[in-house]
Amino acid sequence: MTKFIGYRCSLCGKEYLPGQVTYTCPSDGGNLDVVLDYAAIQKKFQPDDLVCRDESSLWRYLPLLPVAEPGGESTPLHAAGWTPVFALPRLGQTLGLKYLWLKDESRNPTASFKDRASAIVVARAREIGAEVVVTASTGNAGAALAGMSAAIGQKAVIFAPRTAPQAKIAQLLVFGAKVILVDGTYDDAFDLTIQAANEFGWYCRNTGYNPFTAEGKKTAAFEIWEWWLNEHRSWHTADNPLDKHPPLTIFVSVGDGNIISGLHKGFKDLYALGWINRMPRIIGVQAEGSAAIANAFRAGGETITPVSAKTIADSISVDLPRDGVRAVRAARETGGTYITVKDEDILAAIAALGPSGVFVEPAGAAAYAGLVQAASQGVVGADDPVLVLNTGSGLKDVRAAMQAVPEAPVIEPTLQALKKFL
Ligand SMILES: *Cc1c(COP(=O)(O)O)cnc(C)c1O
Ligand SMILES: [Zn+2]
Repeated sequence: MTKFIGYRCSLCGKEYLPGQVTYTCPSDGGNLDVVLDYAAIQKKFQPDDLVCRDESSLWRYLPLLPVAEPGGESTPLHAAGWTPVFALPRLGQTLGLKYLWLKDESRNPTASFKDRASAIVVARAREIGAEVVVTASTGNAGAALAGMSAAIGQKAVIFAPRTAPQAKIAQLLVFGAKVILVDGTYDDAFDLTIQAANEFGWYCRNTGYNPFTAEGKKTAAFEIWEWWLNEHRSWHTADNPLDKHPPLTIFVSVGDGNIISGLHKGFKDLYALGWINRMPRIIGVQAEGSAAIANAFRAGGETITPVSAKTIADSISVDLPRDGVRAVRAARETGGTYITVKDEDILAAIAALGPSGVFVEPAGAAAYAGLVQAASQGVVGADDPVLVLNTGSGLKDVRAAMQAVPEAPVIEPTLQALKKFL
């Protein structure tokens, strides 16, 4: 089925055929939305055809994806997505919320949300016969591309800032990618990657540049939709009284703005198909020291002015967000907003989530820190159902985690010493 019928520029609206462009709009550099043939999908599929599939990964949503499933044996590439949603009743109570959940993306094969994007890009690379896939990364996108590539023997090259957390660099190396550390920022690595891809003919996965990353990230929206259907059976039945509830509010941390744009795209797909009758509210959270998109949102426009990014949340530390315009729209068009949080709030969020059994990296914690602020300011109220996306595992950045909690005491191995301590 040819459901992938082209691209549409998010800035000028110009449409392109699938073979006509590869990355961004040739006229204005705008991010390209993948265009699907909704009528063809509608003719062939109903929601029930998807939700009854016996497939516990993002490939469950193949009918809504612009790539073919990379066939073959079960590998980590076939295990991206389908992450659990946990209820957080005690934290909900603390925040004055009746309905609070967390979707835990640290359960992905390489322990971050980025596996969703990399799985789809690697599938695309295989389709177009790309010999080498390359990406710039603050760490997670690279680890995801390296891991998903390793799964099917695809060659990968990763550029990351030399300051990336050790665990992320270790993942890149262990997965066997060619790793090049750049003596500069993520933004420097980003620009170099595009030059290298053009020079050597590599297929570039860069976030907010390659249109397929958002198509991978949108699968989280499909999972949230399906989870919500199971919870409430209310998203696609116009006359269901449960629809009188406020819409689901989703908190997501934002760096380049591609996760939030991908989520938005997923819900827009479902809306266009008539499978949901209203959009959830999407709230983006940025670190105060890396808030170019929040700034644009607050200014009321779509102009993204670069900042000099500085935050402990390395995964969302970005000078010039590459998917800023769509990221602003994701909040604006869904009745959401942007919230900025301090590094100390991020560290506090790591410590707050841990006792619920969830170990988050700083960027994941930022989303929860944003919720704490939103709850205290009445941006969300007691009856609002709220879902926080944890985008990455705490094991990715152990140094930050250790800053979030007090040190453990060291004692002599005697009962006497223990008693004295207690
Ligand atoms: C990449 C990343 C983000 C932000 O995603 P963007 O698409 O850059 O906005 C958030 N959290 C984690 C853990 C990430 O790796
Ligand atoms: Zn354009």
